[in-house]
Amino acid sequence: MATLKSSNATPAARVILPGTQYHRIRKTVQLICFIAFILLPLFNIIRFDIPHERFYFFGTELWISEFSIIFLTMMFLMFSIAAVAMLYGRIYCGYLCPQMIFSEAANSLEAAIKRMVNRRFSSLGAIERRVMAVALFSAVLLPAAVFVSFVFISFFVQPVDLFHRLLSLDIRTSGGILGASVTLVTLLDFAFLRQRFCTGICPYGYLQNMLADSNTLLVHFHDDEGKCIHCDKCVRACPMGIDIRESSHQLECTHCAECIDACSTILGKLGRGSLIQYAWGDAGNNAVKETAWYRRIGLRDGKRIFVLLLMVIYASGLSIAISLRQPVLVRIMPNRITLYTMDADGLVHNRFRLVAINRGKTDARVTFSLADLPAAKILGVEDGVKLKPEETLQREFDVAAAASAVGPGVNHLRILTQVTPAQTAGEFQETFIAPMESTPAPAGK
Ligand code: SF4
Ligand code: SF4
Repeated sequence: MATLKSSNATPAARVILPGTQYHRIRKTVQLICFIAFILLPLFNIIRFDIPHERFYFFGTELWISEFSIIFLTMMFLMFSIAAVAMLYGRIYCGYLCPQMIFSEAANSLEAAIKRMVNRRFSSLGAIERRVMAVALFSAVLLPAAVFVSFVFISFFVQPVDLFHRLLSLDIRTSGGILGASVTLVTLLDFAFLRQRFCTGICPYGYLQNMLADSNTLLVHFHDDEGKCIHCDKCVRACPMGIDIRESSHQLECTHCAECIDACSTILGKLGRGSLIQYAWGDAGNNAVKETAWYRRIGLRDGKRIFVLLLMVIYASGLSIAISLRQPVLVRIMPNRITLYTMDADGLVHNRFRLVAINRGKTDARVTFSLADLPAAKILGVEDGVKLKPEETLQREFDVAAAASAVGPGVNHLRILTQVTPAQTAGEFQETFIAPMESTPAPAGK
């Protein structure tokens, strides 16, 4: 082996630790994703708070009723998923997916415990060592499963509330039962399923394979010159237990590149490069040897550019919608169950319905005024309404005017709103219905 190394010093030098390059990148990315997985819900970066009907997006608290923002967010995320799957295949699975990160961590932990038990308790029999290794592994896995479940559920429930439930070992309320169930499923997943989940259950894995086409990034084995030494190191390195030499289109392949590293390591010792590489689509063009930058990042046809363009459009729409978002939402609509009523003083009343929602964190006040119908006045909310943070107020109020001071039939007016302290103004184009000159007021009015 030493001879082979020295006789090929220069070419081998170019692949000095190539065997670990993708592995290192992958482990670094996985660590970043693991930290992000924990921080996303805790800092409200992305979190669906189902009990409170809120969606948190980069610190902005959105109400589920804010349809446009939720819609744009969903479309942006959907096209992001489609774009990644179309361009880079299952690279998400190999580099970013929490299931893969925790499965690989469970594999490493189990192997490390087995090694430790075999080393330290070599005097024990094989069955005793095995039982001890399983017991130790389970002892570590249980708190790890509780922690992972806690973070996962935090995406949907307030972490502080969840923490209190956990401390009180709540398994009586529906929330507590749900938490305990998720923990149990997580425990069983990391104890028994692990990567089998990726190939047998995960719907996203199937979706990615459906979105892939002849230009998607794959992991290819090329050996036109018969250089493979059949060492099977690529197979042993594969976390999914497959042989990439059989096909680049295997459902189990997560494009993690561990086999590229393995082949680089073994053939590097012979002064050769890896027979396995990232390559684009069926043609198998080496991804790292593409010359044009846009082809190197996967922009290989109009379809991909179109999907990215849509992503940009939705992202821009989302930014604009968030920047225009007002913390206090005011809606006014006419109540036309009765067109109008007359009071004893001869005033015509039109009824309106007010909905005001304070989505902010401070008290707010909404005041009202009228324009375009000087004879009319507001009754019921003339002093404005106050809203506490997160309060929703629904109320009816009247606009009244003397019949002789307004035109018969339909009159037009605007109801103006002013929100303090946000200093945002609103305007509602409405109609005021008065009796027709020749028509008597409706019966009973
Ligand atoms: S075949 Fe290679 S790229 Fe695919 S999962 Fe196995 S090691 Fe990863
Ligand atoms: S690691 Fe490379 S040389 Fe060894 S079996 Fe796999 S493809 Fe062939």
